[in-house]
Amino acid sequence: MSQTERFDAVVIGAGIVGATTAYALSKAGLKVLVIDRGSLASGTTSAGEGNILVSDKEPGPELDLALRSRDGWFELAEEIGDSFELEAKGGIVVARSEVGVSGLRELTKRQRSAGVDSQDISAGDLRKLEPNLSHSITEGAFYPQDAQCQPMLATAQILKHVTDNGGRFLPGVTVTSIKSSAGKVTGVETTSGFISSPIVINAAGTWAGEIADRANSYLPIAPRRGFILVTVPAPKLIFHKVYDAEYVANVASGAADLQSSAVVEGTQSGTILIGASRERVGFKEGIEYPILRQLARQAIELFPILSEVQLLRAYRGFRPYAPDHLPVIGEDAQIKGLWHNAGHEGAGIGLAPASAQLIAESVTGQRTFMDPTPFSPARFSKGAVA
Ligand SMILES: Cc1cc2nc3c(=O)[nH]c(=O)nc-3n(C[C@H](O)[C@H](O)[C@H](O)COP(=O)(O)OP(=O)(O)OC[C@H]3O[C@@H](n4cnc5c(N)ncnc54)[C@H](O)[C@@H]3O)c2cc1C
Repeated sequence: MSQTERFDAVVIGAGIVGATTAYALSKAGLKVLVIDRGSLASGTTSAGEGNILVSDKEPGPELDLALRSRDGWFELAEEIGDSFELEAKGGIVVARSEVGVSGLRELTKRQRSAGVDSQDISAGDLRKLEPNLSHSITEGAFYPQDAQCQPMLATAQILKHVTDNGGRFLPGVTVTSIKSSAGKVTGVETTSGFISSPIVINAAGTWAGEIADRANSYLPIAPRRGFILVTVPAPKLIFHKVYDAEYVANVASGAADLQSSAVVEGTQSGTILIGASRERVGFKEGIEYPILRQLARQAIELFPILSEVQLLRAYRGFRPYAPDHLPVIGEDAQIKGLWHNAGHEGAGIGLAPASAQLIAESVTGQRTFMDPTPFSPARFSKGAVA
């Protein structure tokens, strides 16, 4: 990269959030540089199942963001061409206890009033939608808006579009500090030297707190570990994303210890993805077989036929967790020109297009499509956890 090349904005992080942010800023006419210490999608994005969900969210700002984002994904596919397996496959949430059923019915009612297409379904309908579902399950809800994409392909295609349209991508370069003068960003110091820019976007996912720290600011983003099992490609056995109603409570829980509930879905390549565990154990490496066994057991309870399908592999990732479960989208409370778009936890793929839209509209001084205040970084004053 030439030392004289000038950029209107530098995006730190080439995950799905950085890619969509760079895309939205380019579309708004800015010349953008994306920097990543690894390659594209080398962070948590490579661990995501790619679900674009409205079903797992309570009414509130995150659901409003998710509804816009779900449409944003399909608009993006129209704009750049869908080469990332985007599919409106629909989601099914099942409940197995009396309490679970009444909780689910209450949730679908609240969601309907917030604009979600959530349909209460009976045993017969469940069987039509998912013929292999356990016969012990008789109640559920269907969410036709739930969708899925392949997040690594999406990141690659979106970044390609950015670079084809005048932007740049610099892989293998680490941002070591954010430079500012008189409370305004001047650029980033990197392992390849200083890069000047009046706007810097922190899209470093689970590492966004480190980036804030390198700017002498503060964001309490922590890793929330999750394991996924992947089966060998199988004939079509599962037609939607299917999960236990308990999953909604697990997502919303702030507990540090292990939370696990069955989440099962097929992919276009024929593999079946089985999740989902959540625990806050820092960046703890390795595979933990008791957790994998628990995930497998829970999945077989939903779909007994899975006991006949072989596993291909298991992997783990670290979700970017914010203490109040809301992403951090907006300008830094202390440093003008430093913007954060991070902390999307287990929903960063789904929420990426709308989060990027909020950033682009705010950076360019346009009216935002929704009130961004609930996502403001200012809710975490320096040194204090919300
Ligand atoms: C098991 C699992 C399943 C999931 N399933 C889903 C799902 O189905 N749907 C969904 O919406 N979400 C899902 N998620 C969550 C989703 O994957 C994340 O929210 C999302 O990928 C975060 O994207 P990101 O771009 O913010 O972060 P990342 O993809 O982590 O990107 C951040 C990038 O910043 C780079 N970086 C960090 N520090 C620096 C530095 N100093 N200099 C330069 N570069 C730096 C990293 O290398 C990285 O590439 C899942 C997560 C896990 C763990």
